[in-house]
Amino acid sequence: MPMNLIILGPPGAGKGTQATKIAKHFSIPHISTGQILRANKDMETDYGTPREYIDQGEYVPDEMMVEILQKRLEEPDTDDGFILDGYPRTRTQAEYMDEIADIELVIYLNVDEKNVIERLTGRRTCTGCGATFHMDFDPPADDGTCTECGSELKQREDDQEEVVRKRLETYRDKTAPLVQYYREKDMLAEVDGNPSIEEVWATIEELLDDRFEA
Ligand code: AMP
Repeated sequence: MPMNLIILGPPGAGKGTQATKIAKHFSIPHISTGQILRANKDMETDYGTPREYIDQGEYVPDEMMVEILQKRLEEPDTDDGFILDGYPRTRTQAEYMDEIADIELVIYLNVDEKNVIERLTGRRTCTGCGATFHMDFDPPADDGTCTECGSELKQREDDQEEVVRKRLETYRDKTAPLVQYYREKDMLAEVDGNPSIEEVWATIEELLDDRFEA
């Protein structure tokens, strides 16, 4: 049975950070739809470019997202499983997921809103490999470059406070209801995402080891 996992939670919950650790620990690919979209920000589609939505703190249309995801999941590296970060974000996307893959578990990172804003506005992202840092909680190298690949770090356009507030509103409206959706299906594992990166990881690691390596 492939280890198909989803990590769910508000922007700034630490989904990308924890998904990277899960991927490494279990040797499965980390699929971040945000990263895929950023790498193709100016791609022309029937619905316009991803940039038109992302920089406003809005979601790209479901049709655009579903097409991109379908292509990614057809890659052979997903045969033993994957950790999906940033998808599904709407009810339509969740229903589509139910049709195309068997999901084993949805990890819900629950984080207080005040922490989320602090985490996002202090975040810096590597222009080379996509690794993320936080100026206070997880600082980069002394010269401000990426400790993974040495490239320059930048603040994402959508990590500016005004856009962050809009992203949170979009999350509350469209994605938060998915917590209940998966809870009702008995697929949800809720994790307190407020503590430090290492503390949250220890909780997730124990949870997944118990469930998948017992
Ligand atoms: P993230 O890196 O996960 O914070 O995603 C950055 C941005 O990409 C989001 O604010 C959305 O504009 C867009 N995005 C990522 N995943 C999705 C998705 N599943 N559905 C719609 N838009 C998405």
